[in-house]
Amino acid sequence: MTLEELLEAGILYAVGEAPARTEDRGFQKYSMTHMPGTIRLRCSTEKCSKIMDWRIQNNSEFFGRPSQFTYRCVQCDEEVTFFVNGTFERKEANLFAVITLAGRCPRSTGRIGEELKRALNKTDVERRSDVLYAPRCRR
Ligand SMILES: [Zn+2]
Repeated sequence: MTLEELLEAGILYAVGEAPARTEDRGFQKYSMTHMPGTIRLRCSTEKCSKIMDWRIQNNSEFFGRPSQFTYRCVQCDEEVTFFVNGTFERKEANLFAVITLAGRCPRSTGRIGEELKRALNKTDVERRSDVLYAPRCRR
């Protein structure tokens, strides 16, 4: 899963990885790992109500530690913040940035199916979407 796919999937917890350093014919190649500059998400404001481009607002460099990245809808300035934890993992000769999506704000309930929603009461739906929600999310 690429980082774009990870953020666009709307799920609350997932792991993605990107090469941070690869070995090419005996030479170590370093590449700075960045969060994607633009992602495509559904914007639910009245003005948009469709899939929009969202641009990153802060420095997109990924440092391999818990971080937050805010994206803003290009049309209406709505914001979504993703909370990620990063680590680096060695796989054979290569070093990978392993990025865990730990939450988002506003919370997403998009992946709770309608059938499941009907089966759960309101409190359960909220609780389920809270399981991995970011504690700093106040919305
Ligand atoms: Zn929008």
